[in-house]
Amino acid sequence: MKCPVCRATYRPNETSSCQRCKTDLSSLIQIHDRAVWHYQQALQLFTTGDYLAAQAQNDRAIALHSNNADFHALAGQLWALQGEFQRAIAAWKQAQQLEPRHPLAGNCLQILTQLSRKDNPSC
Ligand SMILES: [Zn+2]
Repeated sequence: MKCPVCRATYRPNETSSCQRCKTDLSSLIQIHDRAVWHYQQALQLFTTGDYLAAQAQNDRAIALHSNNADFHALAGQLWALQGEFQRAIAAWKQAQQLEPRHPLAGNCLQILTQLSRKDNPSC
């Protein structure tokens, strides 16, 4: 998580404030924690195969905190599993924009591009 004021990377500390500019980030941290909680619910639902419920939870995570590449990478997986490849690609590209070296987003995009070249868009 980055400080919205000075863009420094936030590291957890006792005062919940940015180490560089001292801005109080406690409310932001609360929102971030809630977003992560929804993301974890989504991951759990994902493993049980309930993709629609997983997507609903993941959407909440993204609504609360849209700058997490992991959330968008999971959104991409969920879209792909439901056959929505254009949306999957868009989500993975967003993940890559936030985190250029995101391993999952990069791999999935590569696989999907290869598949579409073979004119066989099944994942
Ligand atoms: Zn700061």
